Amino acid sequence: MAAKSLATCIFCKIIKGEIPSYKLIETDTVFSFLDIGPLSKGHALVIPKYHAEKLHEVPDEYLTETLPIAKKIAIALGAENYNILQNNGRIAHQEVPHIHFHVIPKPSASDDEG
Ligand code: 5GP
Ligand code: ZN
Repeated sequence: MAAKSLATCIFCKIIKGEIPSYKLIETDTVFSFLDIGPLSKGHALVIPKYHAEKLHEVPDEYLTETLPIAKKIAIALGAENYNILQNNGRIAHQEVPHIHFHVIPKPSASDDEG
């Protein structure tokens, strides 16, 4: 399984450690880290180690671990309410052209107490 990267891609640079990130889980096919502009506490990104812009361009073997890792992160965060979000293309609000899954906790009002 040959990982594919693009020298100019910020997420490929994060995978290679050329740009710092707060890493959560890394496997042979997947890298996950905290989002730099979190929509809520714990907002994480899960990315295949294969440079492609959109979901349909990624070989299946680079996708199989993505949702199990998103699930692990959701469990680790203790998130009862959360969104898994994955945008494809600028019109669909994709800003970084390296496929990524967002894990976005949705804290309830009681999460702010104590
Ligand atoms: P998109 O709109 O493409 O689905 O989401 C891109 C996400 O990547 C945004 O939530 C943004 O905050 C995050 N992001 C962009 N650049 C960086 C970066 O250099 N480091 C980290 N950790 N997150 C980034
Ligand atoms: Zn990339």
